[in-house]
Amino acid sequence: MTTGTEQQSDTRPRVVIIGSGFGGFFTARQLRMADLHVTVLAATDAFLYSPLLPDLAVGTVDARSVMVPLASSLPGVRVVVGHADQVDLHHRRVHYIDRHGIRGDLSYDRLLLGPGSVTRLLNITGLAEYAIGLKAATEALYLRDLVLQRLEEANLQDDPVRRRAMLTFTVVGAGYAGVELTAQMARLTAHLLPLYPKLPSHDIHWLLVDVAEAVMPELGRRLGVSVTAVTDTQVTLSDGSTLEGSVLIWCAGVTGNPLIAGLGLPMVKGRLTVDEFLQVPGHREVYAIGDAAAVPDLTKPLEKGGLWPVCPPTAQHAMRQATAVARNIRAGLGRGAVKPYRHRDLGLVVDLGGPDAAASRRPDPNVGDARSALRTSRRRAAVGRDGTSSGPSQSLIFPVEVLLGTFNGSG
Ligand SMILES: Cc1cc2nc3c(=O)[nH]c(=O)nc-3n(C[C@H](O)[C@H](O)[C@H](O)COP(=O)(O)OP(=O)(O)OC[C@H]3O[C@@H](n4cnc5c(N)ncnc54)[C@H](O)[C@@H]3O)c2cc1C
Repeated sequence: MTTGTEQQSDTRPRVVIIGSGFGGFFTARQLRMADLHVTVLAATDAFLYSPLLPDLAVGTVDARSVMVPLASSLPGVRVVVGHADQVDLHHRRVHYIDRHGIRGDLSYDRLLLGPGSVTRLLNITGLAEYAIGLKAATEALYLRDLVLQRLEEANLQDDPVRRRAMLTFTVVGAGYAGVELTAQMARLTAHLLPLYPKLPSHDIHWLLVDVAEAVMPELGRRLGVSVTAVTDTQVTLSDGSTLEGSVLIWCAGVTGNPLIAGLGLPMVKGRLTVDEFLQVPGHREVYAIGDAAAVPDLTKPLEKGGLWPVCPPTAQHAMRQATAVARNIRAGLGRGAVKPYRHRDLGLVVDLGGPDAAASRRPDPNVGDARSALRTSRRRAAVGRDGTSSGPSQSLIFPVEVLLGTFNGSG
């Protein structure tokens, strides 16, 4: 296929941003007013608000509410929809392939790597073929359709064993995504039950599986089971038990983006090593943020060996790193002064659906209960404001009835 060409008439410094997620999108918004030629190279033409994927799966928000089109939200920024597959650090060019299979490349004076992470797939038989992930809007919508379809089909099924199998759903991964999804989907299916008079409520099973010892340590429920094999009709667990007919939803964490591994640069657990200015050591014109970058957390004590711990892969950090990297990119081009990235983690809010939520947070006089914690957190995420006071972490535990029946692992 032919190679895309760039117009060289624009003499402004060229900044290329790979990725239109929390890191890339918000950096582009900050840089578009500057005297720079900014290009976002992104695999999709929208910014995806991934923390709302469980809500999209449940149907409390629609797809248009979680996806922001780049064309209308990034005026003054050139958007190229394509998949970056190689970065030539020596010649300062990014190579990509667009949706039509046509290859192109972009030259840069400054490069920001923000391609995020990918679903961590373990070496489990059948996993890649049969499990459903939760990283894209299409996966959330597919899951919703599948669950509704199972309810419809089970309602017509007279065999109780097959009916129960149709209504068994296994979520792997008891981090915030898995917990939110399990709680909200269990609430959804319970809510829909009156529409299906032939379905007994005890036939519907939502299971949360994890090798970790606890579901979000704050909730204190022990698990300790993993998945060993998956087929289209069965999920096998490490304790030897099998779940017939179970739909398997894979929320077992993320791992490094392959684009980062392909650079051949130092990494920490699949994330590109950067310094506190979000720059790649040895390549001062290259920056990385978000899930793709191992950003030192200067607010924590040094670890053994004298290294800083790394910021967790969250939107909370990616958005704030976007502000910091935009400032440092401008400074690197002679517009202002560089500053190290520093953000004290605000804690975590888990939306359990309906009126329920759980939060681990630092004390905040503005936050009184889980619901207001959730509202405050969502509002903060929306406006990117940091207003909490400092202090030790504390946990809040709120009604989790919707979860209790789902964590017994027995099916
Ligand atoms: C279900 C779920 C729930 C979550 N809930 C929360 C939460 O409540 N709070 C929180 O703080 N965080 C949450 N997170 C984590 C948060 O979404 C991520 O940490 C955040 O999105 C990271 O931002 P990023 O910019 O690094 O990557 P992303 O937002 O993932 O963006 C990466 C971008 O790069 C693009 N891309 C990838 N590869 C390429 C390539 N080769 N070429 C071009 N473009 C590419 C992608 O299409 C995407 O646009 C959640 C994540 C998930 C999946």
